[in-house]
Amino acid sequence: MAVYRKRSPARRISRPALLSFSLLLCLFVIEKASLAQEVALTFDDLPAHAPLPPGVTRAGVAKQIIKALESAHVPKSYGFMNAGKLQKVPEDVEVLKLWRVAGLPLGNHTYSHMSLNANTVEAFEQDIQANEPLLDSMMHGKDWRWLRYPYLWEGDTREKRRAIRSYLAEHKYHIAQVTLDFEDWAWNSPYARCSAKNDTQAIEQLKASYLSTAAEYISFGQQRARHQACLIAARWRL
Ligand SMILES: [Zn+2]
Repeated sequence: MAVYRKRSPARRISRPALLSFSLLLCLFVIEKASLAQEVALTFDDLPAHAPLPPGVTRAGVAKQIIKALESAHVPKSYGFMNAGKLQKVPEDVEVLKLWRVAGLPLGNHTYSHMSLNANTVEAFEQDIQANEPLLDSMMHGKDWRWLRYPYLWEGDTREKRRAIRSYLAEHKYHIAQVTLDFEDWAWNSPYARCSAKNDTQAIEQLKASYLSTAAEYISFGQQRARHQACLIAARWRL
């Protein structure tokens, strides 16, 4: 999983992320002595999320995001894909190709972005499997056995949670956990609507609220990670 060290990710990736996929951050404290922090950036819902602003293409959004990641020297970020979205818009496979050409890995977000809470264990397992042929073909032997739960919902009963975790372990999957998510996807539709109306004032407000919300969440995540690190250090007398 990609790691992004000691910078403010929100400012560097804000514009392209405003346009497309759901961006999720994993924030974790690694180094016991310095309490230095690292975050791994990941992107959900490839190849498409929410309506597009006028004149913008999915491939164009992907190129912007990839360019932003590269210019900020972000290590390779996983994109969690739903192959089922290609049934309606097959040409969006271009997004996945661009992602891979840039050397970025793909992971499993289920075929149809299925809610485990609203479906059976069997249906959820089938949805994981249905996503695998395209994942496998695009990853060319690289590790794609990472699952990001859609909606971050891991099951509404203990039985479901345990059943899927057992299934994932049996099938050599890792669970791609999330520790920091400021629900950036919520800006996508308003941004598309305001762009369609060419409402520059509203767009500026959206950009400002996007950045300030990201900054708040990142700050909170950093504080929480430091607190947890202190608890761990105290427990193990580090
Ligand atoms: Zn998702």
